[in-house]
Parts: sequence; structure tokens; C-alpha cells
Amino acid sequence: MKKSVKDYDLSGKKVVLRCDLNVPIKEGNILDDTRIKASLETINYILDNGGCCIILSHLGKVKEKSDLEKNNLYPVSVRLGELLNKEVKFLPNTRGDDVDSMAENLKPGEVMLIQNTRYEDLDGKKESGCDLELAKYWASLGDVFINDAYGTCHRAHASNVGICKFLPSGLGFLPSREIEKIDGIMNEDTHPFVVIMGGAKVSDKIKVIENLINKCDKLLIGGAMAYTFLRAKGYNIGSSILDADSIEFCKEMLDKYSDKIFLPVDSLVASSGDSDGFVIKNVSKFSDGDMGLDIGPDTVELFKNNLNGAKRIVINGTMGYYENDKFAGGTKAIYDYIIDNNIKTLVGGGDSAASVNKLSNPLKFYHISTGGGATLEYLEGKNLPGISAIDEKEEG
Ligand code: ADP
Ligand code: MG
Repeated sequence: MKKSVKDYDLSGKKVVLRCDLNVPIKEGNILDDTRIKASLETINYILDNGGCCIILSHLGKVKEKSDLEKNNLYPVSVRLGELLNKEVKFLPNTRGDDVDSMAENLKPGEVMLIQNTRYEDLDGKKESGCDLELAKYWASLGDVFINDAYGTCHRAHASNVGICKFLPSGLGFLPSREIEKIDGIMNEDTHPFVVIMGGAKVSDKIKVIENLINKCDKLLIGGAMAYTFLRAKGYNIGSSILDADSIEFCKEMLDKYSDKIFLPVDSLVASSGDSDGFVIKNVSKFSDGDMGLDIGPDTVELFKNNLNGAKRIVINGTMGYYENDKFAGGTKAIYDYIIDNNIKTLVGGGDSAASVNKLSNPLKFYHISTGGGATLEYLEGKNLPGISAIDEKEEG
């Protein structure tokens, strides 16, 4: 077990807190503040328990000078202050005398945010390359380090992994809950356990499939990914998205796990994703130029039959091009079935989570994981460096 923020006496402590405040910003305006809101729980816990917060976060990617201004964290400090209903002191730099003295003088109950940690990438990728001198500097600002940035836990950066070498550390509520929920469903010994995979590319998901196929009883494959599997079986898939490099992998999987894998039998077909209309076609009847954009009604029935009686479901990827309402029906039908039958279901992946928010009710699910890349790597069976680096709890 990893230590959590709750395992520390925070009274009078300066907490260096790594948050994921990586929100979409356009011309200084925050388009979606979900991540800022999600970080409030851990921040408020620290403040309510007598600590103060020195917050570190990345924002976007900084590769060249022109990336600096658009990835300035200042607007985030303003929004965070509004949500906390208190002043958030902002430092436009990532280190230096100003940062030192602000941290030095920070009082219990106060919050400061320093500039985007990835500003340090401009000069030799110090943040992303996990430069230990930088990590040591950030550690020098406080007494304890808390990592609440689940979305970057699959990365070993100075602000989440390096810093753990120099301070006692613990997890914030967001990563603690994510790990607890994912472990909770993966390690439970109940069956049937059904995995539903979809989304755009097989190659993004090969390692997830390889890890989950041995654990699950059935694997239902929809989304664009299904057409590469159908192509591997010899079907004409028209102009559907094909991941040619993965055909061999699909063949192997189909040979080895023919009894476990279920593919679509029909599709909603159009000439492109922007089409207003579509026709329903059996997957054996595609013509050149037909693009499969959602699973068809017979496939919805086939998938529901295979979900009947399931005790656990893990979903990664959507059943169709859900961004267009015309092709969102298959994905929605699966969510509706899960809710109606009250099946314990984990949804992981950025688009998958977005599709639940758009088409269904996230509160009806066991867990909607927010960390796209981090959750995918965790489902691949990998250790997440941002979690591994945190101090272990002494047992007993
Ligand atoms: P996640 O982000 O949850 O891991 P992916 O990014 O792999 O999921 O998959 C979601 C994306 O796949 C969405 O943008 C969706 O529109 C696209 N997609 C799913 N099915 C199709 C399809 N048949 N044709 C084109 N795009 C599709
Ligand atoms: Mg995606």
C-alpha cells in the first residue's frame, strides 16, 4: 500500500502538491475546468488540516519559445482562486528567489502556484527528463510531497517522480481512488468477466488486449478497431479505418482465442464520418468506399447476449464514431444495457469517458477513469512510475 495524504500530520506543514491542472485554454480562456474542480478535494483537505499548498502542474507541451505564452498557468491560478474562494498566489517562474521567498513565507491555509513545470523543458527537457537537480529544488520548497496528478502517473518526470527522492511522499485522493477502483474490479474473482474494446486503432490497444484477454471470459470488439480484425478474417472492409500493421496481430488473436472474441456482424455504413445518412450492412456485404462507422442492430443484440449475466465489465474505446450523433447509437445501446442490468463496469480512456458523459450517466457506473494514458498503461499491466515512486505505508 502506498502512503496517502491522510497518512501525514499536515499541521503547519508546507505541502508540495503535484496537481493535474492541464485544462484546455484558448486565448487565455479556460474551455473546461473539470480538472481544476477535481483537484479541489485534495487541496481543501490539506488546507483544512492546517497545511499550506505549493502547487506544481504542467500545462500542454513546451517544445519551443512560442509554446510558452499559450501554456502559461496564470489563468488557471485565477480560476482556482475563484473555486477555492481564496487568493492563489501565482509565480510566473518555475524557480528562483521569488519562488523561494514566497514559499518561505507561505502561511497555513495559503495556496501558491508556480509556473507550468514544462517551462523547464525548453532548456534541456529538465522536467520531462526527470532532472534530479530540478526535482531537488522543488522539493526544497516544502516538507512533504503529495502527488494528486493521476493523468501523468505513467510518466517519470521531475515534478512527480524525481521529487519523491527528496521528500516524504504520499498520494492525493485522485490517484488513490483510481488505483483502488481499477484494482478493485481487476482483482475481483467473479465471472463472467467481459472486456469491451473499441476505438480507433488496434496498435494503441495491443498491449491492453494482450493483458486482458487472459483474464476475461469474453472480448467484444467494436469501433473502428473491429474492421482490422474483420480484414484479418478476409472481409472487404471498404474504406473503414484499417490499421494495416496490426493485421498479423489480429490473425494471431483470432486463431488463439476464437472462442472468446466476438466481432460485429453488421455496421452502419456511410461514405464518411460527416455523412447525414447511413445504411445498415452485414459485414460480409461491404462495397469499396463503404465506411463502417458504428455497430449495427444485430451486433448490438449479439453484444447484449454476451453481456447477459456478466459480473464485471471493463470498457476501453467506443463502439463507433460517437462524435457524430448518427453514429453514437451503438455505444449508447451498450451503456443503456449496462445501466439497466446494473453491471459493475469500469470505463477507461479519454474518449470513452467523454462518450459516457455525452451519451449516458457517469454516476450509474462503478468507475469512469479520468486518466487516459495512465489508465491504459495500468490496464496493460504496467506499473505506473508516478505511483511506484511514492513511499510505502508501514504495515501493521
Ligand atoms: P479512448 O480515448 O477511450 O482510449 P480511442 O481514442 O481509442 O478511445 O477511441 C475513440 C475514438 O475512436 C473516437 O474518436 C471515435 O470516434 C473513434 N471511432 C470509434 N469507432 C469508429 C469508427 N467505426 N470509425 C471511425 N472512428 C471511430
Ligand atoms: Mg482517445
